[in-house]
Amino acid sequence: MTEHSSPDADTDTQDPDASSWSDWTAHALRLDARGELGRGPKGLLIDLPALAQSWTCASGLCTPGRRDAKARSCCADLDVVLDEEELTRLDAAMPLIAARLAAQDPRWAAGPLAWRDGDTLTRPGRRCVFSRLAPEGLRCALHELEAEEGLSPGALKPAPCRMFPLIWVDADDGRVLLSAVHRRTARLVGTRPASAFPCVGEGAVSLAESMRETLVELLGARGAAAVVRQVREFRR
Ligand code: SF4
Repeated sequence: MTEHSSPDADTDTQDPDASSWSDWTAHALRLDARGELGRGPKGLLIDLPALAQSWTCASGLCTPGRRDAKARSCCADLDVVLDEEELTRLDAAMPLIAARLAAQDPRWAAGPLAWRDGDTLTRPGRRCVFSRLAPEGLRCALHELEAEEGLSPGALKPAPCRMFPLIWVDADDGRVLLSAVHRRTARLVGTRPASAFPCVGEGAVSLAESMRETLVELLGARGAAAVVRQVREFRR
């Protein structure tokens, strides 16, 4: 299995090569033995405990300067690696992005910033170049711009950001394991413990339900419905 997480490298600790397909396979087998492995269309395997944990974006709890010492944020602490298409799309939209951020973020006031280092987004001032500080916490300017301009989700916001904290693991036999940052997967992801991210375990709604739109993008309506239904049954 190969894993695709998002954002997928912690500056301090995350090692994207920390796990191998055999680690994830062993994880899936343990889930199956405990009756905690769901199944969906096209060989989809579902890490039910990870998808059933509560989750909601809680940027007021993870924004640098406002958070507990051990708290970490996807927009401040994780490397975001883009593919070629995403780099090209952001490059084309940069005049629009730079104009918007110049009015909202002091880092951009003097002119466009170096927004990437190779294929990775930069983090001037120890937060993502496209984040802005709002009273409620860090906000993604790309996400806001998509909504304002009527663009489809993902037209600007990179896939790793739309995925977090979901993890997509490709098995060698064509199956997929859908998992997430969770107390049982931290070693496999090679990241900080799930407890470092205040969004994980926060709120009353499951991760699957909170991220239903993303699941539809990834799996189609039928696949997303299968995940949500099994997660609801698992939480009962
Ligand atoms: S692009 Fe947006 S969601 Fe992704 S790390 Fe930057 S601010 Fe956060």
